[in-house]
Amino acid sequence: MQPPDDVIAAIATAPGPAGLAVVRVSGAGALAVADAVFRGGAPLAGAAANTMHHGWAVWPAGAEDTAGHGSRRLDEVVAAVFRAPRSYTREDVIELSCHGGPLPAGRVLAALLHAGARLARPGEFTLRAFLNGRLDLAQAEAVADLIHAETQAAQELALSQLAGTLSRRLEELSERVGDSLAEIEARIDFAEDVGGIETPAQVVAAIAGVSEELTGLLASAAYARAVREGVRVVLAGRPNVGKSSLFNALLGEARAIVTALPGTTRDLVSERIEIAGVPITLVDTAGWRAGGDPIEAIGVERAREAVDGARVALWVLDRAAPLAAEDHRIAASLDGKRVLVALNKSDRPAVLGRASLPPLPNVTALEVVEVSATTGLGLGGLQEALGRLSGATEGAAPLAAAVANPRHVEALERARAALERAAGAARELRPGEIVALELREALACLGEVTGRTLGEDLLERFFSRFCVGM
Ligand code: GDP
Repeated sequence: MQPPDDVIAAIATAPGPAGLAVVRVSGAGALAVADAVFRGGAPLAGAAANTMHHGWAVWPAGAEDTAGHGSRRLDEVVAAVFRAPRSYTREDVIELSCHGGPLPAGRVLAALLHAGARLARPGEFTLRAFLNGRLDLAQAEAVADLIHAETQAAQELALSQLAGTLSRRLEELSERVGDSLAEIEARIDFAEDVGGIETPAQVVAAIAGVSEELTGLLASAAYARAVREGVRVVLAGRPNVGKSSLFNALLGEARAIVTALPGTTRDLVSERIEIAGVPITLVDTAGWRAGGDPIEAIGVERAREAVDGARVALWVLDRAAPLAAEDHRIAASLDGKRVLVALNKSDRPAVLGRASLPPLPNVTALEVVEVSATTGLGLGGLQEALGRLSGATEGAAPLAAAVANPRHVEALERARAALERAAGAARELRPGEIVALELREALACLGEVTGRTLGEDLLERFFSRFCVGM
């Protein structure tokens, strides 16, 4: 895909009252477009690279202000001038810092569009940076991860990917695969003369070595992915077992209303906590009593949906009371989940124990913790177990160069499979062409992560998920 040569413009900051808002302009004719709107000491066309200029944004000459209030003046601004190729997009870029709030930047953008710029599509600045070779695809993805990061660990993961740590590691692995391929191809050419080839032992070892390193990289993926995407944890349990109390205890503040009446949490309440860098969304649900009043029934329905959408269920039981029919119904709804059973009210004489739990044959992971929301007994253990079930305990793995993005994980798994097939074929003394074919496949998969081997349509789709102004 060729970088286009038209001028694009968009507001790069979030809307709402703020000190500043920034309008970005990029393209070969960006300075001329900006000069139609900017009035400062001198035209920006003559400005040196990396300089800032104070002035006013005005309606371009000959263009009518649609608001028709007469004044051509739009805002007092500072223009930052970046000249190609030393800019975010590697094109000429002008960033106009306006006052914040909904109007100043909006009117300045409108003036730039009057002057010949086109409104940028979502992610188009970063797409241009990619097409002009300033960022690879993994780095472009890191820009999106960075602005969506909700924990410091997630932000650091994105920063390391933006700095190219993952890209360099994959580049190095690709080079090693490329060397093995070159050696095999040279032998194939030579074999036409002498007949019969096999893959030398050191090349097989080199292929297996890269495959092992990919295995190591992928081992950190579960934790890195939990850090990047966060985990949804839903509280399940019949009314009055202490769900809201535990929710609050985990949050450390009184967020949900706690009362002694059954069924008071009528709707979903969700809050964010963090365990070992993993953002965890705790969802408290309405009581699970079938029947009840209609409003509560809506809550029950929503609770079921919430459980369906969560990876981990925190199932709260009243340890001081016998199991009820509802507990068996709830147990049946936990199939396919990672389940943390909290035996709550452990400050009172125990009626239930671990042995009295209903069977949970289809859950993917199970932990049982004794806890008391009111006295705080066992809360630390509950948090640790929640961390384990949310994937927050693999934190020993270094986050630099970790693979967090499912697109990367999937491509690297295919690369590893191709390398394993290549090594297997070589060990069985199969023709060099077969080994070479698998190595080419592995190289293509590795290249997908950095975008070297990704199709045009995929690229368009990829960048359309970004924000406007990015
Ligand atoms: P929910 O309906 O499951 O959300 O339950 P709540 O959190 O509203 O709690 C119901 C009642 O049980 C309230 O009176 C709480 O104070 C009480 N409760 C909650 N946790 C405990 C606990 O660990 N020990 C004791 N003794 N009471 C608790």
